Amino acid sequence: MSKLPGIGKKTALRLVLHLVKENENRTTGLTQALQKMRANIRFCKTCHNICDEEECNICRSHRRDRAVLCVVEEGKDVMAIENTAQYLGVYHVLGGIISPVHGVGPEELKIESLIQRVGASNGEIREIILALSPTMEGDTTAFYIHKKLKDFSVKVTSIARGIPVGGELEYADEITLGRSIMGRTLFN
Ligand code: ZN
Repeated sequence: MSKLPGIGKKTALRLVLHLVKENENRTTGLTQALQKMRANIRFCKTCHNICDEEECNICRSHRRDRAVLCVVEEGKDVMAIENTAQYLGVYHVLGGIISPVHGVGPEELKIESLIQRVGASNGEIREIILALSPTMEGDTTAFYIHKKLKDFSVKVTSIARGIPVGGELEYADEITLGRSIMGRTLFN
């Protein structure tokens, strides 16, 4: 339990003691839910977000605007942006960020898949919003993608810096994140 993110030893102990006292059906239910989650989890064939079907419900939705595509690092960023209820486009999850220090190059990420997706859309995708963390790695990744997209007639924007420099997207509050999406600027 204490190996889970955000859970210290004290909280872990409290959770374990709670589970020990719980009705057996409840703990078995939790175990089964975790097993089911692990067995069914997969990545959307279009946007690479975590889902339990071939394509996620955002990509399948008819209410989403396919002309606008928001590029994020991880699935948790999709959740953060969805919580703002300000964005109606679709997403592309890179699965990380370019980080030479951690040995992550562009090939390890879903960047090629993004370029192919833009190419295959035949101009349907008109805007790419780069919603990456305002860190050095985020900027490097944004610059790399921007360069890769220069042959396409697609507008590349970047979310406004309402997000604190050096901060991570998932920790931004909904209002700040919502405003950054609305106030995005042309990436250069
Ligand atoms: Zn999807």
